[in-house]
Amino acid sequence: MLMAARYHTHFLEEGKWSDYMSGAGENNDCLFCKIVEKKIPADIVYESEDIIAFKDIEPKAPIHCLIIPKKHISTINDIDGSNSNIIGLMYEAVAQLARSFNVDKDGYRVVMNCNSNGGQTVYHIHLHFLAGRQLSWPPG
Ligand code: AMP
Ligand code: ZN
Repeated sequence: MLMAARYHTHFLEEGKWSDYMSGAGENNDCLFCKIVEKKIPADIVYESEDIIAFKDIEPKAPIHCLIIPKKHISTINDIDGSNSNIIGLMYEAVAQLARSFNVDKDGYRVVMNCNSNGGQTVYHIHLHFLAGRQLSWPPG
């Protein structure tokens, strides 16, 4: 019992208890879960209770950020009634980022790739936020 109390206290001191309860970073093999857990560094541009956004390591536009849920979800195919609220929260982050980068008026693109044909390489859902240049359509 004492051990359990200490364990909880440790989580609270580290500020990780709420993350633990929400299932954040639950996939030990996932690169983006490691970013959520701050085990891998990232240039974080937005953070809320459920969402984190950071700069893409290989930017495809002058502004290229990735918006991810803290809780691990592998692909769009795993979205259902139990977790779909996270998609709205991700777009709230997009709107806020657009204002903070001052591209809300000029415009930007938001993309989520799925599986092999969609070009997904990291299997923890993420919105690409691309801005700062004219983007062509259709994408390649
Ligand atoms: P996707 O190909 O749609 O799965 O997108 C994955 C994105 O993650 C790519 O644009 C990568 O450049 C980006 N990426 C991979 N590793 C990192 C990292 N450690 N930090 C930031 N972005 C990364
Ligand atoms: Zn993950």
